[in-house]
Amino acid sequence: MHSSDVPAQSLIDLGKRYWLPVYRPRELILDHGKGSRVWDTDGRDYVDLGGGIAVNALGHQDPDLVAALVDQAHKLWHASNVFYTEPPLRLAEELVRASGFAERVFLCNSGAEANEAAIKLVRKWAAAQGRSADKRVIVTFRGSFHGRTLATVTAGAQPKYQEGYEPLPGGFRYLDFNDVPALEAAFAQGDVAAVMLEPVQGEGGVLPAADGFLRHVRALCDRHDALLVLDEIQCGMGRTGTLFAHEQDGVVPDIVTLAKALGCGFPIGAMLAGAKVAQTMQFGAHGTTFGGNPMAAAVARVALRKLASPAIQANVRKQSQALRDTLDALNRELGLFAQVRGRGLMLGAVLAEPYKGRAGEILDHAAAHGLLVLQAGPDVLRFVPPLNIDDEDLAEGSKRLSAALRSFLGK
Ligand code: PLP
Repeated sequence: MHSSDVPAQSLIDLGKRYWLPVYRPRELILDHGKGSRVWDTDGRDYVDLGGGIAVNALGHQDPDLVAALVDQAHKLWHASNVFYTEPPLRLAEELVRASGFAERVFLCNSGAEANEAAIKLVRKWAAAQGRSADKRVIVTFRGSFHGRTLATVTAGAQPKYQEGYEPLPGGFRYLDFNDVPALEAAFAQGDVAAVMLEPVQGEGGVLPAADGFLRHVRALCDRHDALLVLDEIQCGMGRTGTLFAHEQDGVVPDIVTLAKALGCGFPIGAMLAGAKVAQTMQFGAHGTTFGGNPMAAAVARVALRKLASPAIQANVRKQSQALRDTLDALNRELGLFAQVRGRGLMLGAVLAEPYKGRAGEILDHAAAHGLLVLQAGPDVLRFVPPLNIDDEDLAEGSKRLSAALRSFLGK
C-alpha cells in the first residue's frame, strides 16, 4: 500500500530540473512512515536513525501528534499575531514551566528564526544598557551551526556556509570550542554582550561541550555582565536524556532556542527568554506572520508533554547505551571509527584517518541496505533516531548498519 505508481526516477528528475540545486538528497523518494520505519515509493522499508535531522523525535505517525494536528485542522489553521488563539498561549506557559528559567517565549517557525530573534534580543538588551554598537559583540564557536539567515550563518563560524554571502553582519567573534583561556581573552576586550553556543555541537561533528565548560562560560558571562545564549535546536527536547541538554551542565542560561523536535516534524521554533531579558523587547520590537501558528503550537504542546516524560528519558538512556554498544562492537571488528561521542540519542562516530571524508559514501551504502543515517560533516556519521525507538527497530537498524559498513569496506 501507499507506494506510488509513478517511477521514482521521474519524480527525482523534477527536483533536478526545478529545485534550486542547493541540496543533494539521496536518490529515493520517501512516501510514508510509522514509528522508526519509513517506506519509499517503491515499497522498500528503512530503519530511520536520522529522524529527519533530529526532528522526528516521536517517530512517524505518532497517534497523539496526529490527533492534535487533525483536531486543530478542523478548528482554525491560522490567525496571525493580530489575534489570540489558545494553542500558542498554552504552549508558551508550558515551555516556561518546563524550562525552569524562562519567563517569556517568542514563537517562530524554524531554528534560524529562533536564533535570529536571540541575536536581536542580545543587541536590544545591550543597547538598552547604553552599550554602543561596537560593544555588543556575540562570541560564538568554530564548528557551530546556528542557521542560514545572514546573521545566523555569520554566528555559525563556518566559512563553507558563508563564502560568497559577504558582506556579513559584524559583531561576532569566533573562538575554538571548549577553549577557556581564549574565552577569558575575548572577554578582556570589554565589548562582549553574549556568548552563544550549542551544548552539543550538531552539524559541526556531534561534539559535546567539555565537562565544566558551560559553567566557565556562565561564570565569565556573570563577571562581565553578558548573556548566555544556548542553541538547543538540535540537542534539546529530550535528545540528550534530559528535556534540555544544559540541565546536565548545571547552568542557568539567559536565552534558549528550540526548533526541530519541538514540532516533531511540523515547523515551529521558539526563543525562551529568562528574567534579565524577558522585558527587553516591547511592542513592535520583533514579529512574524506564522510564528505561534495554532496548528504548529497544538502539535508542539503534545510533543513537549511526551518528550518531557520520564518514559522517553529512560528510553533515551537505554537506547543510547544499546547504540553505543553496537558502534563499539562494530568498531572492534572493522576499525572504522576513531571515536564514538555524543550524549543520549545524539551520537557521532568519527571516521578513522583512512576513511576521513567518506561519510557520504557510507550513507549511500546505508540507504542501499535499508537504513537512514546522517553525516555531520564529511568525517562523522551522525545518529539521531526517534527518542521512542524500540529494541526491535534499533536491533534491526544495527544489523543493517553492520551490513552497510561491510559493503562500504568491500567485505
Ligand atoms: N541551530 C542548530 C543547532 C541546528 O542544528 C540547526 C539546524 O540544523 C539550526 C540552528 C537551524 O535550524 P533551521 O534549519 O530550522 O533554520
